[in-house]
Amino acid sequence: MKEAYLYEKQEHDRVRCFLCSHRCVIKDGEKGICGVRENQGGTLGSLVYERVIAAHTDPIEKKPLFHFLPGSRSYSIATVGCNFRCLFCQNADISQMPADHRRIFGEEMSPEMIVREAIRSGAETIAYTYTEPTIYFELALDTARLAVKEGLRNIFVSNGYMSRECLEEIHPDLHGANIDLKAFSDRFYKKQCGARLDPVLNTLATLKELGVWLEVTTLLIPGLNDSEEELRMLSRYLADLDPDIPWHISRFHPTYKLLDAPSTPAETISRARDLGYEAGLRYVYSGNLPGDEGEKTFCHHCGELLLDRFGFTVRKNKIRDHRCPKCGESIPGVWE
Ligand code: SF4
Repeated sequence: MKEAYLYEKQEHDRVRCFLCSHRCVIKDGEKGICGVRENQGGTLGSLVYERVIAAHTDPIEKKPLFHFLPGSRSYSIATVGCNFRCLFCQNADISQMPADHRRIFGEEMSPEMIVREAIRSGAETIAYTYTEPTIYFELALDTARLAVKEGLRNIFVSNGYMSRECLEEIHPDLHGANIDLKAFSDRFYKKQCGARLDPVLNTLATLKELGVWLEVTTLLIPGLNDSEEELRMLSRYLADLDPDIPWHISRFHPTYKLLDAPSTPAETISRARDLGYEAGLRYVYSGNLPGDEGEKTFCHHCGELLLDRFGFTVRKNKIRDHRCPKCGESIPGVWE
């Protein structure tokens, strides 16, 4: 068992994990909320180190990251487990495997093997995604450090529940992140996800402070987080943090334990995008709506079409030297 990073030993063989904002105190022989970190005789260990459940090469647009090396490929990995219990999880078969089935599976893959595979696939980045990268932090951090030495960059696709200590540890080797801001109400986070809102907001602010490129995704679920008032508050919060944060508003389809809510109407996504722009955000996108106008990037200054996308495919990229070719405005993002 790999000894965990970011924990402290306490009396009576207890440990306190401070990798994520649950900050679990774990007795000998027990696991934390994520189900993949176990106290064995007063030492906390990761049960998923080098146990990769998914590894694919994806377009970076799938993360989604729209302002980070557009058109490039991202070698994407995950282990099982998550520190959230979202009723609408789209990857519950792997993220909730330890909680629902008390099982931990994964193919043995060392950081060296992951980096080698990433290079072989032609990817420019490694994405830690599909489940929650925080809970396989030891594997992610060791891989990220090695990846940087080999000229790759690293991306987290995360629920944003990591602790500040976790972000401070990884940020020199973390280049981009897409964080889910699942709602703007603590009630939603408690009831639907088994978590709290404030730690996620703290993560968004910390990532900006540490200089990590940040994009945000919100999955709109009819009747649960799509009221005009809530979306106004959420988008104002993002715009106050930085109007250049790209906000992805994604369409929900019934899944996992949330089968009685309807799919999000396209008009709701469109209205949410309008609210985002009204709040002052400059780049607001639609997700899970292939062919929608909201997949494209337009210059925030002159409205020129800069990136023409269809689904996860970039059909045209007109950005040159970080700038709009028509008006010369600098376009926020990581372009090369
Ligand atoms: S990662 Fe989070 S959920 Fe898992 S043991 Fe640590 S504090 Fe608890």
